[in-house]
Amino acid sequence: MKIGLILQMLSKEIFNFIPTPSYVIFESLLKKNLQILSTLQDETSVKILLAQKCFSMFYFYPLIEKYLSGTAASGLFEAKLAKEFFHGENHVFAPAYKSEEIEEIAAICEHVIFNSFRQVEKFAGIVKKNSHQVGLRINPEHSTQTHAIYDPCSPTSRLGVRFNEFEKIVETQPELLKMIDGLHMHTLCEQNSDALDETVDVLIKKFDRQLRNISWINLGGGHLITKNDYDIDRLKRIIKKLQNNYDLKIYLEPGEAIALNAGFLVATVLEIHQPINGISNVIIDASAACHMPDVLEMPYRPAVVGDIPNGKFKYRLGSMTCLAGDVIGEYSFDKPLNEGDKIIFEDMAIYTMVKNNTFNGMPLPSIIAVDENNNFKIVREFSYEDFKNRLS
Ligand SMILES: *Cc1c(COP(=O)(O)O)cnc(C)c1O
Repeated sequence: MKIGLILQMLSKEIFNFIPTPSYVIFESLLKKNLQILSTLQDETSVKILLAQKCFSMFYFYPLIEKYLSGTAASGLFEAKLAKEFFHGENHVFAPAYKSEEIEEIAAICEHVIFNSFRQVEKFAGIVKKNSHQVGLRINPEHSTQTHAIYDPCSPTSRLGVRFNEFEKIVETQPELLKMIDGLHMHTLCEQNSDALDETVDVLIKKFDRQLRNISWINLGGGHLITKNDYDIDRLKRIIKKLQNNYDLKIYLEPGEAIALNAGFLVATVLEIHQPINGISNVIIDASAACHMPDVLEMPYRPAVVGDIPNGKFKYRLGSMTCLAGDVIGEYSFDKPLNEGDKIIFEDMAIYTMVKNNTFNGMPLPSIIAVDENNNFKIVREFSYEDFKNRLS
């Protein structure tokens, strides 16, 4: 709701002037999230890392590093990005590392998290040689949500070491256990602290012995800490519980919570068709498949500024691509749309520019930053060369 208000004030000044499609990220909205996270760090001594796979707009890393403790990478490239632009702790997790990359990763990441004991056996020595920390991802085998594609605790999951496997290693290769400085788990997706609470109870029940022998635990991402209805007090109680029972440094590595509701994808109406059963197809210059793939993957219907329930003018917003299903959703407004109008999709900072693509030769959206005085800056524009250079 609040965002709608901010937009009404800014839309005339900013949205009418920018090229489309473009991602428009507001410093003030990012800061609002960062302040909540920074307060949590101060009050609990938990350390919060930016999960770069969600939001890697490094233009804002100098801002984010003022509030958070570091970054979490999914592999060498994100780790290098953090090394170059973010002054903080550099953590990395990958389901497997390549032997030709591990030296560089171990040199620039002071926390390297492995997904199996075999990976520890192969590579932990290189991490130790750099006097860096070795972590192991575990799978507590406790699902708290029903989106199979986002559930690392599914019966066939490849992510994290299960308790049984852990017990086997205690007997067969105890020397590997001695290499491990910290544990990591990531099981949540867009969830509140009740889901974390029950997962931590399972963690303690299963891994109590290991928790006594390590110095840190990373509770992963998926905590929607900056959403209005998130129960932060409950999160604080969970952190306290772990701190009271064990001598542990605690990390969280949310992605969404950091840039939640901090940006928009702005598109232009190109064409409006005759209505079919009262709803007109509208072609816009942005695409779900190319520019907001989670709309199709999750799937979900993103909020649009001006959309009202049962508005008189009903539209189905679709893209310029060939894909029949490249439709963002059905919306209704109290005024008719016209060619050239701007369509503003909300909450488009996260999992957008990190996932976009040029399918159909679609141009990538420009990246625009808006400062606290509502001055906007085109941080990056993309051209035909960017499309071409990835293809041969
Ligand atoms: C995706 C992911 C995160 C961030 O998750 P959000 O849902 O964006 O908070 C953190 N850690 C790991 C290991 C992840 O895979």
